Amino acid sequence: MVEPGDPTRGQFTFDAGRLCLDFVNTVQFRPFTDRLELINTYDDLLAWARQATIITSDEATALAAAAQKQRRSALDALAQARTLRESTYAIFSSRAAGLPAQEADLRTLNRAVGQAMAHAGLIPTGPGFEWGWPDTVPELDRVSWWVARSAAELLTSSVLTLVRECAGYDCGRLFMDATKNRSRRWCDMRTCGNRAKSRRHHERRRAAGLGRRPTG
Ligand SMILES: [Zn+2]
Repeated sequence: MVEPGDPTRGQFTFDAGRLCLDFVNTVQFRPFTDRLELINTYDDLLAWARQATIITSDEATALAAAAQKQRRSALDALAQARTLRESTYAIFSSRAAGLPAQEADLRTLNRAVGQAMAHAGLIPTGPGFEWGWPDTVPELDRVSWWVARSAAELLTSSVLTLVRECAGYDCGRLFMDATKNRSRRWCDMRTCGNRAKSRRHHERRRAAGLGRRPTG
Protein backbone atom coordinates (compact mmCIF):
# COMPACT_ATOMS: atom_id res chain seq x y z
CA MET A 1 0.00 0.00 0.00
CA VAL A 2 1.12 3.54 -0.70
CA GLU A 3 1.37 5.57 2.49
CA PRO A 4 0.26 9.21 2.57
CA GLY A 5 3.26 11.36 1.74
CA ASP A 6 4.84 8.64 -0.39
CA PRO A 7 6.53 10.33 -3.35
CA THR A 8 4.92 7.89 -5.82
CA ARG A 9 1.46 8.99 -4.71
CA GLY A 10 -0.46 10.82 -7.41
CA GLN A 11 2.06 10.03 -10.11
CA PHE A 12 0.49 8.02 -12.86
CA THR A 13 1.72 6.87 -16.24
CA PHE A 14 -0.26 7.29 -19.43
CA ASP A 15 1.56 5.18 -21.97
CA ALA A 16 -0.79 2.26 -22.64
CA GLY A 17 -2.33 3.87 -25.72
CA ARG A 18 -5.92 4.01 -24.44
CA LEU A 19 -7.48 5.67 -21.41
CA CYS A 20 -9.17 2.48 -20.17
CA LEU A 21 -5.85 0.58 -20.28
CA ASP A 22 -4.04 3.38 -18.45
CA PHE A 23 -6.69 3.07 -15.75
CA VAL A 24 -6.20 -0.71 -15.56
CA ASN A 25 -2.48 -0.02 -15.05
CA THR A 26 -3.11 1.91 -11.84
CA VAL A 27 -2.48 -1.47 -10.18
CA GLN A 28 1.13 -2.58 -10.34
CA PHE A 29 2.43 -6.12 -9.83
CA ARG A 30 -1.16 -7.29 -10.36
CA PRO A 31 -0.41 -11.05 -10.21
CA PHE A 32 0.68 -10.73 -6.56
CA THR A 33 -1.47 -10.46 -3.46
CA ASP A 34 0.71 -7.58 -2.23
CA ARG A 35 0.27 -5.73 -5.51
CA LEU A 36 0.65 -1.97 -5.50
CA GLU A 37 -2.65 -0.04 -5.58
CA LEU A 38 -2.25 3.53 -6.82
CA ILE A 39 -5.90 4.58 -6.38
CA ASN A 40 -6.38 4.44 -2.61
CA THR A 41 -8.73 7.36 -2.08
CA TYR A 42 -11.32 9.35 -3.99
CA ASP A 43 -8.72 12.13 -4.20
CA ASP A 44 -6.34 9.69 -5.92
CA LEU A 45 -9.09 9.01 -8.46
CA LEU A 46 -9.46 12.75 -9.07
CA ALA A 47 -5.68 13.17 -9.35
CA TRP A 48 -5.62 10.42 -11.98
CA ALA A 49 -8.50 12.03 -13.88
CA ARG A 50 -6.79 15.43 -13.76
CA GLN A 51 -3.56 13.96 -15.06
CA ALA A 52 -5.55 12.15 -17.77
CA THR A 53 -7.11 15.55 -18.64
CA ILE A 54 -10.63 14.09 -18.57
CA ILE A 55 -11.72 16.61 -15.92
CA THR A 56 -10.84 20.28 -15.65
CA SER A 57 -9.34 21.77 -12.51
CA ASP A 58 -12.71 23.45 -11.79
CA GLU A 59 -14.45 20.09 -12.07
CA ALA A 60 -11.81 18.48 -9.84
CA THR A 61 -12.38 21.20 -7.22
CA ALA A 62 -16.16 20.75 -7.43
CA LEU A 63 -15.87 16.96 -7.17
CA ALA A 64 -13.44 17.15 -4.24
CA ALA A 65 -15.87 19.47 -2.41
CA ALA A 66 -18.81 17.15 -3.21
CA ALA A 67 -16.79 14.16 -1.95
CA GLN A 68 -16.13 15.98 1.35
CA LYS A 69 -19.85 16.53 1.82
CA GLN A 70 -20.97 13.10 0.64
CA ARG A 71 -18.28 10.83 2.04
CA ARG A 72 -20.35 7.65 1.73
CA SER A 73 -21.17 8.36 -1.93
CA ALA A 74 -17.53 9.18 -2.68
CA LEU A 75 -16.44 5.85 -1.15
CA ASP A 76 -19.08 4.09 -3.28
CA ALA A 77 -17.83 5.90 -6.41
CA LEU A 78 -14.25 4.87 -5.58
CA ALA A 79 -15.29 1.24 -5.02
CA GLN A 80 -17.30 1.26 -8.23
CA ALA A 81 -14.36 2.66 -10.21
CA ARG A 82 -12.04 -0.03 -8.86
CA THR A 83 -14.56 -2.80 -9.54
CA LEU A 84 -14.94 -1.47 -13.07
CA ARG A 85 -11.15 -1.41 -13.40
CA GLU A 86 -10.80 -5.07 -12.36
CA SER A 87 -13.54 -6.19 -14.79
CA THR A 88 -11.97 -4.08 -17.54
CA TYR A 89 -8.62 -5.75 -16.83
CA ALA A 90 -10.19 -9.22 -16.89
CA ILE A 91 -12.00 -8.61 -20.20
CA PHE A 92 -8.95 -7.23 -22.03
CA SER A 93 -6.56 -9.71 -20.45
CA SER A 94 -8.79 -12.58 -21.61
CA ARG A 95 -9.08 -11.04 -25.06
CA ALA A 96 -5.29 -10.69 -25.31
CA ALA A 97 -5.01 -14.39 -24.43
CA GLY A 98 -7.67 -15.34 -27.01
CA LEU A 99 -10.19 -16.27 -24.32
CA PRO A 100 -13.84 -15.17 -23.97
CA ALA A 101 -14.86 -12.60 -21.37
CA GLN A 102 -16.53 -13.77 -18.16
CA GLU A 103 -20.23 -12.88 -17.94
CA ALA A 104 -19.86 -11.16 -14.55
CA ASP A 105 -17.13 -8.84 -15.89
CA LEU A 106 -19.18 -7.94 -18.95
CA ARG A 107 -22.17 -7.25 -16.67
CA THR A 108 -20.05 -4.85 -14.57
CA LEU A 109 -18.78 -3.03 -17.65
CA ASN A 110 -22.25 -2.88 -19.25
CA ARG A 111 -23.69 -1.39 -16.08
CA ALA A 112 -21.07 1.38 -16.16
CA VAL A 113 -21.61 1.92 -19.91
CA GLY A 114 -25.35 2.26 -19.24
CA GLN A 115 -24.74 4.86 -16.53
CA ALA A 116 -22.33 6.74 -18.80
CA MET A 117 -24.82 6.75 -21.67
CA ALA A 118 -27.66 7.89 -19.42
CA HIS A 119 -25.65 11.02 -18.61
CA ALA A 120 -24.04 11.53 -22.04
CA GLY A 121 -24.83 14.53 -24.16
CA LEU A 122 -23.43 16.86 -26.77
CA ILE A 123 -21.07 19.66 -25.81
CA PRO A 124 -20.25 22.50 -28.22
CA THR A 125 -16.54 22.69 -29.09
CA GLY A 126 -15.73 25.65 -31.31
CA PRO A 127 -17.27 24.95 -34.69
CA GLY A 128 -18.65 21.51 -33.79
CA PHE A 129 -19.78 19.25 -30.97
CA GLU A 130 -18.44 16.28 -29.11
CA TRP A 131 -19.80 13.60 -26.80
CA GLY A 132 -19.38 14.40 -23.14
CA TRP A 133 -21.24 14.92 -19.89
CA PRO A 134 -22.99 18.27 -19.94
CA ASP A 135 -24.16 18.18 -16.26
CA THR A 136 -23.29 21.56 -14.81
CA VAL A 137 -22.51 19.95 -11.47
CA PRO A 138 -20.31 16.89 -12.19
CA GLU A 139 -21.38 13.61 -10.58
CA LEU A 140 -19.02 11.65 -8.36
CA ASP A 141 -19.07 8.72 -10.81
CA ARG A 142 -17.89 10.73 -13.79
CA VAL A 143 -14.39 9.21 -13.94
CA SER A 144 -15.92 5.72 -14.29
CA TRP A 145 -18.04 6.93 -17.20
CA TRP A 146 -14.93 7.99 -19.09
CA VAL A 147 -13.28 4.65 -18.44
CA ALA A 148 -16.42 2.72 -19.44
CA ARG A 149 -16.76 4.72 -22.64
CA SER A 150 -13.09 4.21 -23.51
CA ALA A 151 -13.39 0.45 -22.87
CA ALA A 152 -16.58 0.17 -24.94
CA GLU A 153 -15.00 2.06 -27.84
CA LEU A 154 -11.91 -0.14 -27.79
CA LEU A 155 -13.87 -3.40 -27.46
CA THR A 156 -15.97 -2.51 -30.53
CA SER A 157 -13.04 -1.27 -32.63
CA SER A 158 -10.83 -3.03 -35.17
CA VAL A 159 -7.72 -2.32 -33.05
CA LEU A 160 -8.94 -4.58 -30.25
CA THR A 161 -6.55 -7.21 -31.66
CA LEU A 162 -3.63 -4.95 -30.69
CA VAL A 163 -4.31 -5.13 -26.94
CA ARG A 164 -1.51 -6.98 -25.16
CA GLU A 165 -0.71 -7.97 -21.61
CA CYS A 166 2.92 -7.56 -20.57
CA ALA A 167 4.79 -10.88 -20.54
CA GLY A 168 6.60 -9.89 -17.33
CA TYR A 169 5.74 -12.60 -14.77
CA ASP A 170 4.95 -10.04 -12.06
CA CYS A 171 3.52 -7.22 -14.18
CA GLY A 172 -0.01 -7.52 -15.60
CA ARG A 173 0.08 -4.16 -17.38
CA LEU A 174 -1.97 -3.80 -20.56
CA PHE A 175 -0.98 -1.80 -23.63
CA MET A 176 -1.64 -1.31 -27.34
CA ASP A 177 0.97 -2.94 -29.58
CA ALA A 178 1.87 -0.25 -32.10
CA THR A 179 4.92 -2.06 -33.50
CA LYS A 180 4.95 -2.78 -37.24
CA ASN A 181 5.30 -6.53 -36.89
CA ARG A 182 2.96 -6.74 -33.88
CA SER A 183 5.64 -8.33 -31.73
CA ARG A 184 5.74 -6.17 -28.62
CA ARG A 185 5.82 -8.31 -25.46
CA TRP A 186 6.78 -5.94 -22.68
CA CYS A 187 5.12 -2.87 -21.21
CA ASP A 188 8.57 -1.31 -20.99
CA MET A 189 11.90 -2.64 -22.24
CA ARG A 190 13.71 -0.69 -19.50
CA THR A 191 11.90 -2.59 -16.72
CA CYS A 192 10.07 -5.83 -17.61
CA GLY A 193 11.99 -6.41 -20.86
CA ASN A 194 15.34 -6.03 -19.16
CA ARG A 195 14.36 -8.16 -16.18
CA ALA A 196 13.23 -10.92 -18.50
CA LYS A 197 16.48 -10.71 -20.43
CA SER A 198 18.56 -10.87 -17.28
CA ARG A 199 16.43 -13.79 -15.94
CA ARG A 200 17.07 -15.68 -19.17
CA HIS A 201 20.75 -14.85 -18.85
CA HIS A 202 20.87 -16.22 -15.27
CA GLU A 203 18.88 -19.32 -16.26
CA ARG A 204 21.28 -20.03 -19.12
CA ARG A 205 24.25 -19.57 -16.79
CA ARG A 206 22.65 -21.86 -14.20
CA ALA A 207 21.92 -24.52 -16.84
CA ALA A 208 25.56 -24.33 -17.94
CA GLY A 209 26.76 -24.76 -14.35
CA LEU A 210 28.06 -21.21 -14.24
CA GLY A 211 27.31 -18.49 -11.77
CA ARG A 212 27.12 -20.82 -8.73
CA ARG A 213 28.32 -19.43 -5.49
CA PRO A 214 31.49 -21.04 -4.18
CA THR A 215 30.50 -23.59 -1.56
CA GLY A 216 33.48 -23.55 0.69
ZN1 LIG B 1 5.51 -5.11 -17.70
